[in-house]
Amino acid sequence: MREWVTVFVGIGANLGEPCAAVLNAVQEMAGLDGVAAVRRSSLYASTPIESSGPDYVNAVVELKTSLTALELLAQLQAIESKAGRERPYRNAPRTLDLDLLLFGDSVIQSATLTVPHPRMWERAFVLLPLVEIAPEIVGATALAQVQGQTVHRIVS
Ligand code: ATP
Ligand code: CA
Ligand code: CA
Repeated sequence: MREWVTVFVGIGANLGEPCAAVLNAVQEMAGLDGVAAVRRSSLYASTPIESSGPDYVNAVVELKTSLTALELLAQLQAIESKAGRERPYRNAPRTLDLDLLLFGDSVIQSATLTVPHPRMWERAFVLLPLVEIAPEIVGATALAQVQGQTVHRIVS
């Protein structure tokens, strides 16, 4: 029997119907074989920083999984594809983005996966939803470093 690992996934969308896409992605993740106990933050709106286009809708979910990190990444990418995700250029606007933020306390550096997500600590649109559901993970210093970024809670 594999162990169940606690994982955090960052969700973002700014094309199509972003709120619906984010909520649908949570349902899709909850329905995966080998995924249980999905807990979602509120939804947040953020102004694109490195990206462009309309404001983003963001959230973070905590889930338990018996999948490996690479198996989970493949499932997350399948959910992105179903939502019509395209990658015309780096940081392009998108219908759905699912980033694996933390996978237990694993440190992973492979060709296709880096965990913890290397840019998560620079991003208020990750840290604000994350601190809401996992305050023990995000300290005051981390939050202070992103306080200039425009992110606000839109839906509980
Ligand atoms: P960023 O990673 O800066 O948030 P992005 O989400 O726009 O940028 P993508 O185009 O979605 O980038 O992903 C590019 C590649 O990143 C993916 O094909 C995937 O293999 C790789 N990748 C590496 N680490 C991770 C991770 N922790 N979560 C998701 N994808 C990752
Ligand atoms: Ca991303
Ligand atoms: Ca991504």
